[in-house]
Amino acid sequence: MQSLNHHDQFTYELYKQLLETALSCGEVLLFSKRTTKPGLIIRHDVDLDLKLCEHMVIVEKRLGVRSTFYVMVRSPLYNPLAPNESEFLRWLIAEGFEVGLHFDPVPHEQLIGQNHLNYKRCILEDASILSTVFNSLGHTHVRSVSFHNCGTRAFSQNLVFAADGADLVLENAWFDSGRYISDSRMQLPMENVFAFVEHCGQEQLMLNIHPEHWIHGPNNTYENIIFKHSVNSGKDIREVLSVNSTYLSGLH
Ligand SMILES: [Zn+2]
Repeated sequence: MQSLNHHDQFTYELYKQLLETALSCGEVLLFSKRTTKPGLIIRHDVDLDLKLCEHMVIVEKRLGVRSTFYVMVRSPLYNPLAPNESEFLRWLIAEGFEVGLHFDPVPHEQLIGQNHLNYKRCILEDASILSTVFNSLGHTHVRSVSFHNCGTRAFSQNLVFAADGADLVLENAWFDSGRYISDSRMQLPMENVFAFVEHCGQEQLMLNIHPEHWIHGPNNTYENIIFKHSVNSGKDIREVLSVNSTYLSGLH
């Protein structure tokens, strides 16, 4: 097992090693292809920019791995309906990746309050907006939904919904049983993550990797990543941070 314990280790080389470890121990599964069989579901919540996904895709493709990208439709930072972005998403689908909705409740809250039933309606509405990106493909629709900043808004746990036609089916088998690990706020426990993925031959696991945490290589903190994104994208730092408003406590 690797003995890494700092966020300085967020490199594509390390991500490649993680995938190789998973492949040597079990199978990497797409979300929609999961059954009850063991394997590793790789989930990418796209919080800042779709362009930051490209290198992650390259690493995965080289190893024959396919993952699920969760995309926002009401972000102030990127627009999946814009020509280049929607082209990229269609390319992902053509390459065998999956695209789901990364649902942020915040834009809806002022309109609807925090009623769970209303959220369901809003989730389906956003899923239907994202599905329009794939209309030209004829058959593709959003099959799953992950939550942005979950645990801080209407819901108290990590959630993934399977979008089953016009309905949503809650899938939370991974979250209370040690079968889920995330690099949220770059707090991925490196000393444990290899042991975690090694277990994918025995159980079905979910690994949540945010592409923006890996783009700038080693020796970066979460605060640096946000700041660099603000500078590189020309986006106002307040706009960048509004997406991660609950993550601000460590920033100065
Ligand atoms: Zn998110």
